[in-house]
Amino acid sequence: MRLILLGPPGAGKGTQAQRLVERYGIPQLSTGDMLRAAVAAGTEVGKRAKAVMDAGQLVSDEIVNQIVSDRVDARDAARGFILDGFPRTVPQAEALRDILAGKGQKLDAVIELKVDESALLERMKKRVADTVAAGGKVRADDNPESFKLRLDEYRAKTAPLSAYYAGTGELKTVDGMADIDAVTAQIAGILSMAAAK
Ligand code: AMP
Repeated sequence: MRLILLGPPGAGKGTQAQRLVERYGIPQLSTGDMLRAAVAAGTEVGKRAKAVMDAGQLVSDEIVNQIVSDRVDARDAARGFILDGFPRTVPQAEALRDILAGKGQKLDAVIELKVDESALLERMKKRVADTVAAGGKVRADDNPESFKLRLDEYRAKTAPLSAYYAGTGELKTVDGMADIDAVTAQIAGILSMAAAK
């Protein structure tokens, strides 16, 4: 099962991806997590990405395409994966299609979490509060200023992916404003149809 979760920051992609990991035993490939790990490890990629990420902007396609291409080759991704935060632009979607085709693979589903944008800032604040309460480290870009920029980037560059995947016939939409379990159930329904194909 190879799938993409689409939606703005704060839509619940990460939460749903974690549940899918448990249910289907396939890894969540989050380019944001991979980039944050590279920043923390101080790698060359991390050094190039840090300032861009802190400003809420997008890291170059060249970097993220390579990260994803390498990551899907790992053994744990052989049976499938959930892409979270990638692709984020139409050129990345085209690159992904070519990357997978080069490996003899293709996507099984593209699922968009539709959310009311006015709810997103509050969700981000809740994520920060939950992280602090759990003693975790808050993301450098989880502050209102960076969040607004991330949302602007999403509107300008990522939202067009809905039309792109609608055009390829792969797009499925779920109501991301429903409660977490209901969203999970909607996604499970889509995946069981995709698996039956
Ligand atoms: P996320 O955890 O998905 O919200 O990503 C956090 C940050 O990592 C984004 O604001 C970008 O700076 C960077 N990033 C993650 N995925 C991508 C991507 N597919 N393309 C470009 N930049 C990305």
